[in-house]
Formats: sequence, C-alpha cells, structure tokens
Amino acid sequence: MGLGVTLIAFVMAVAVYLTLRRDARHTWLPMATSLFDVTLISAANFSYAFVADPHQATNSKVTFDTYFIALGATCLRYDKRVAFVAGTAAMVQYAASLVFIYNRWPLEMSMSAESVFNPYGRFQWSDHISRLILLLTATALCVFVVGGIQRQRKLSNADALTGVFNRRFFDDYFASEMERAMRFKSTVAIAMIDVDYFKQFNDRFGHAAGDVALRRVARALQLAVRRSDLVARYGGEEFVVLFREASLDQAVELVERIRQEIQSVPHTIGDARPVHITVSAGVASWPEDGPTIGDILATADRRLFVAKDSGRNRVEGRAATPAATTMRFA
Ligand code: GH3
Ligand code: MG
Ligand code: MG
Repeated sequence: MGLGVTLIAFVMAVAVYLTLRRDARHTWLPMATSLFDVTLISAANFSYAFVADPHQATNSKVTFDTYFIALGATCLRYDKRVAFVAGTAAMVQYAASLVFIYNRWPLEMSMSAESVFNPYGRFQWSDHISRLILLLTATALCVFVVGGIQRQRKLSNADALTGVFNRRFFDDYFASEMERAMRFKSTVAIAMIDVDYFKQFNDRFGHAAGDVALRRVARALQLAVRRSDLVARYGGEEFVVLFREASLDQAVELVERIRQEIQSVPHTIGDARPVHITVSAGVASWPEDGPTIGDILATADRRLFVAKDSGRNRVEGRAATPAATTMRFA
C-alpha cells in the first residue's frame, strides 16, 4: 500500500509539474507543494493505524523524522511564511492523528504483553508532547533562518537609493526571461528610461532634491507596471523596465503612458516654482530586434539616444535610422 501511495503521489507530482512549468512564477505553488509534502507524511503515518498497528502510527520514529526533512525542504523555498505554514500544519496534523488514534484504540490503558512488548514501544503522551516541542522548535528555527536569508537577499538585489531592483539582479532576470521566452516561443520587451536634463536639475536644486526626484520616478515606474514586470535602476538617472510577454507595440504604448504620467506630476522644491521632470525612453523587444540579450539592450540604448536626439521627453520604439546611430557616437 505504501508503495502504491508513493507511486500515485509521484505520478501526481509529474502531472502538476508538466501542467505548471510554463509559468514558473505561480506564487502559491511553493505553499501548496510544501503543504502537500507535510500532508503526505501525515497521511502515510495515519494509514499505518488501519493497515498495520496503531502503535506504529503513533510511535514510528522513522516516519516522524521525515517531517524534519519536509521542513528542511521548505527552507529551500526561501519564504518564511511557507516554513511557518508547513511547520504548523505538521504539528496540527500530527496532534490530530494522535487524538484520533488514542480515542479509537485504548493504547495507553493496554498493559497486555502485546502492548508492552510492541516493537514500537508503549504509547505515552509525554513522548508525544516532546515530539511536538521538537517540531515547534524546528519550525521556529526555519522561520528565523529563512527570514534572515530573505532580508539579505532583498538587500543584495535592491538599489539602495530608490528601492527598485539593481542592475545585477536585472541582468540575471533578463537572462532567465529570455531563456523562458525562447523555450515557450513567447515575447519579452525592455525599455531604457533616462531622466532628461538631470544634471541641470541637480545643479539648480541640489543633489538631495535630485535624489528625491529619482525616488519619485522609480515609484512612478513601479506603480505603472504589472506585477509580472520588473523595474530596475540601470545606473545614475537611468532605469530599465522589463515587460513579460509584451510585443514591441504593447511595450511602447505602456511606456508612452508612463512618460505622460511622470511629466504631469509637478515637483515642488523649497520656494521655487514647481518643475516638471521628463524622461526619454528607448524600447526594444525579442524576437523583433535581434536574437540575443546584447542585441535587445543595444537596440533599446540606441533608440534612447534617438529619443534624446529628437528633442527628449519622448518614447522611441521603431528602428533607428543610420543617421541617428551615427550621431550618437559622433
Ligand atoms: P540627458 O537629458 O541627455 O540625459 O542629460 P542629463 O543631464 O540627464 O545627463 P547627464 O548624463 O549629463 O547627467 C546625468 C546626471 O545624473 C549627472 C549626475 O550627477 C546625476 N546623477 C546620477 N546619479 C545620481 C544620483 O544618485 N543622485 C543624484 N541626485 N543625481 C545623480
Ligand atoms: Mg539623463
Ligand atoms: Mg543618463
């Protein structure tokens, strides 16, 4: 029976993997799979009471220890909520199965030879309370360790000034998105967005006001894109946005809306008259603009310079003319 259940679980896991692999970013998936792992252990343990010996269901050390393997595996999800829920589920399911088995079979009362010399030992609540305390301790350790790792990861992926992702994270993410787009014949677009005349802004209002303005631009970008898109600071006053499964035209339309939004917000600095910050952008997409990451980045960059060269405060998403390309390097 154990083999049968294991085989069914394996076939189900493969079926779920094949169904969901297209989109590897289902946020609920780590939670669901971790809960499934823990529940499978509880179900296997519980089933011993019916197909074997209730003492095996309550006292088996091997089955109980597999909870710790499942809890350790939840740490690899790097989400403390998943570790907390999986650990709590293990404790609740284990305690519930004990209560059920204890009420159905008078394990503790039985002092018959069969019970005393049972290879799994006698049923004692004190043992099980110790086991629950061990599970609680392991859960707390997992939650604290994973929480610490999450904090460090967030810090190392974020830009310190604006809070959006940094360039290193963007580079890795773009590479994985390109792989995904190639595998599933989907599309991916990026926009290079640069603040116009920002040196003048700094010179006029000071570096601190410049920092505030950069934070506002980053926030505006973050609010404007979908959850599945990614905003990063590419360097200085330049940002990059990655649009998943977007064509060139769709991305241009979105960036144009973002450009208008940023332009419409007045910035008041001290007693000075409100100023309006503007941005220029170059948009490129895969597969339209070339087969490699380098091609897409170079095209977006070239189009950004075309936008700058054409007067700024505009979005460029069409092929650059050779004249414009020459001007950039002139
Ligand atoms: P363009 O319209 O051609 O983009 O002109 P620009 O003045 O924006 O471009 P330029 O490259 O000449 O200047 C960029 C300025 O951005 C200069 C630099 O001081 C400023 N800058 C870069 N990083 C930061 C930052 O973190 N904080 C502040 N306040 N300014 C920054
Ligand atoms: Mg600039
Ligand atoms: Mg720049």
